[in-house]
Amino acid sequence: MVIVMKSHSTDKQLSAVVARVHAAGYRTSLIKGEETTIIGVIGDDRPIDRTQFEMLDGVEKTMPVLKPFKLASRDMHPMDTLIPLNGHMVGAPKIVVIAGPCSVESRPQIMEVAQAVKEAGATALRGGAFKPRTSPYSFQGLGEEGLQYLAEAREATGLPIVTEAMSPEQVPLVARYADVIQIGARNMQNYALLNAAGEIDARVLLKRGMMSTIEELLMSAEYILAKGNAQVMLCERGIRTFEKYTRNTTDINAVPVLKQLTHLPVILDPSHSTGKWEYVAAIARAGIAAGADGLIIEVHQNPPDALSDGAQSLKPEKFAQMVIECRKIAEAMGRM
Ligand code: PEP
Ligand code: MN
Repeated sequence: MVIVMKSHSTDKQLSAVVARVHAAGYRTSLIKGEETTIIGVIGDDRPIDRTQFEMLDGVEKTMPVLKPFKLASRDMHPMDTLIPLNGHMVGAPKIVVIAGPCSVESRPQIMEVAQAVKEAGATALRGGAFKPRTSPYSFQGLGEEGLQYLAEAREATGLPIVTEAMSPEQVPLVARYADVIQIGARNMQNYALLNAAGEIDARVLLKRGMMSTIEELLMSAEYILAKGNAQVMLCERGIRTFEKYTRNTTDINAVPVLKQLTHLPVILDPSHSTGKWEYVAAIARAGIAAGADGLIIEVHQNPPDALSDGAQSLKPEKFAQMVIECRKIAEAMGRM
């Protein structure tokens, strides 16, 4: 449930209400707006008797949060969550573009592509050092060496880095290098990993599982939020359907649905959602038109030679063109 304080309530009244909620055995999360303060009340699954809080001084009203996700819900937190990234705020009107190769393959490769995506206007650099591959015989990533190259690329370009952690044990190591820790589709319901990501002070990009519902994605975000880390961005990266002409099916519906259900920023990944570079720009444009807060795009200087996901990687020139088009759409939507 949420407790909405009266617009002229005092700090003292607020503290008294919070103390009363804690005394009743619940946790609180405070959301201070310009006009009103909302107290999110978090307990277990048992119904909360709201009347005991409604008569307290300074309380305007209480409202139940009926959705299974609470902290992730817009009912609990009506204002958009804004997450700083390279001088921008993810979730604010201006869109962000995260770009780079699927995998970090070598020092020269990541340095070159980092420079190219920076010149094209990227906000952040992506690149996997620990790769979740379907086959154990496929390239598994360079591990910590890859993280070191990413850090060098950040040094050279100023772009913050987004890179994946696959297990709770990897979180401290990845967090030492990454500006944003990615949790991949295959690990969306790795609850030990979600808890570990919730326990650190780091930005997280949580990707939707390829066979997960929107509600399951939000419940996974809830794990991270419930541990105290509020800096979560969600990523729609396509879901598995019967369609075979694309690697996945972009659930473009998920963009406005998520924007309505949650205050967390929504990023679209048209690279994994289509699996073919030819369709990436079209779906990127659709995502921005649908209201996504940003994009994550795979870019490689020589896609046929890429060690992973070459078929869906844009060459830098194509990426630069895509950014121009997406920024025009964003502008038409009042998002510049
Ligand atoms: C990736 O970003 O390269 C990746 C493995 O994505 P996903 O987890 O969405 O498959
Ligand atoms: Mn990839």
